[in-house]
Amino acid sequence: MFKDFDYDRLPVVDIVNEMIIDAANKNASDIHFDPTPTILKVRIRVDGELVNYAEVPENVKNPLITRIKIISGMNITESRLPQDGAIKNIIEGRDLDLRVSTLPIVYGEKVVIRILDYSMSTNGLDSLGFSPKNYEKVRKMIEIPNGIILITGATGTGKSTTVYSMLQILNTPERNIITVEDPVEMKLTGINQVQTMSEIGLTFASALRSILRQDPDVIMIGEIRDDETARIAVRASITGHLVLSTIHTNNSLNTIERLLDMDVERYLLGSALAGVISQRLVKKLCPKCRSSRQASDYEKNVFKEVLGMDITDIYTPVGCEECLDGYKGRIAIQEVLGIDQTIRDAITNNIRKEELRKLVYGENATITLLEDGLMKVIEGLTSFEEILRVIDIEDDFGNEDVNIKNALLGKRAEEVPTEVEETPAVEEVVDVNDDELKEEDAELALPNDEDIETLEEGAENIVDEEDSLESVDEPIDLLEVDDDSSDELDSLDLQDSEIDLL
Ligand SMILES: [Zn+2]
Repeated sequence: MFKDFDYDRLPVVDIVNEMIIDAANKNASDIHFDPTPTILKVRIRVDGELVNYAEVPENVKNPLITRIKIISGMNITESRLPQDGAIKNIIEGRDLDLRVSTLPIVYGEKVVIRILDYSMSTNGLDSLGFSPKNYEKVRKMIEIPNGIILITGATGTGKSTTVYSMLQILNTPERNIITVEDPVEMKLTGINQVQTMSEIGLTFASALRSILRQDPDVIMIGEIRDDETARIAVRASITGHLVLSTIHTNNSLNTIERLLDMDVERYLLGSALAGVISQRLVKKLCPKCRSSRQASDYEKNVFKEVLGMDITDIYTPVGCEECLDGYKGRIAIQEVLGIDQTIRDAITNNIRKEELRKLVYGENATITLLEDGLMKVIEGLTSFEEILRVIDIEDDFGNEDVNIKNALLGKRAEEVPTEVEETPAVEEVVDVNDDELKEEDAELALPNDEDIETLEEGAENIVDEEDSLESVDEPIDLLEVDDDSSDELDSLDLQDSEIDLL
């Protein structure tokens, strides 16, 4: 990945252009320019991971930052305050849409360029990695005339891509589709998209109230972040509209709980909810170099417990010149919960979470994220390690899933009584291979219990959040938009808002 530029001879304009083009060609999502006491360190994020890309010498450091600020429309005389900008341009024949933010740090200005790339969603719903069974469920879900469908996952799990792909299918002349988004990430012809502007009072909730007077058939809400939006969304969906939205929870069960916490009336949610799609992104094995290896006893046991299958060989990452450490691109693993009458009644009648869990995963036979992920390991799409990285042993399973939990923790069910003992075993499972990353995360993870429990696997997610944090524009926005500040992650999402840029 590392690239050496001829800093002495190339004009700074060309260096910046080449860095941006090259990063975009490498499918990077972000470019980071980190000032140090001497050089300017450049890193790019590819498939969710930050990798070193270049080192800009001291004499080119400032001109390079200034150049980026000029092309993104920032004030170059201001370097003490954070700024936001955008680059919408054709550079070397490539149509680019970039969001740029600066943050004054002790060694100068840190710049992060986010490269907006929507190529994934234009490929359609069937390219998102849904298993045939889940794909059928999703297709059926979006055919209903009213109800609410929620797509859940943390930041950077491809929620927007899934929502846009669903909208593309619904986008026919006989439907009036209106969205309210922050930001509008992809412009779709035939769909009426509203960009919120909280500074002038155009919030999700106020926009929604107006949208309801615009005779909509389908409403898409970029994200449900506050109680009021949640309530309007649910009410809209029981009055003859199909509502699509995303919410920051990690699985179907938690989504139901979260909505109830948001003051959505139980009986309304029971009748409104049509489905929940939970998703996470894992790195895709490079098809050029992946190789087959024998599964370890631990892996065999996990396959046996989770899927009831005897697996002897699985694919493993190798690495070639076309990929990064054996991985290339990412693929989603999903859990698709279609709401049937039994689950509807259960929500309305306030049954215990454990009972609801049994209905969802037992009778309803919803394929869990772990099951879907392991199937994708068998198919050679991703690796066992990747699935383990994104599965949250505490949060994804109930108390009755003792055998699965133990399998994941590397224990045999009969060795342990009913009590699950995580702490010591966790360390056996975790494959800590990146000391630097770990060190960084130790600090970052502190305010966030949820992520602490995700073992080292959470590391990347946390870095993602950190990354997002770096692109925060005005901190005021964070404070004012989210009154549900109990969920820190949610408010982190807000910095995606590039209101001023559009
Ligand atoms: Zn490869």
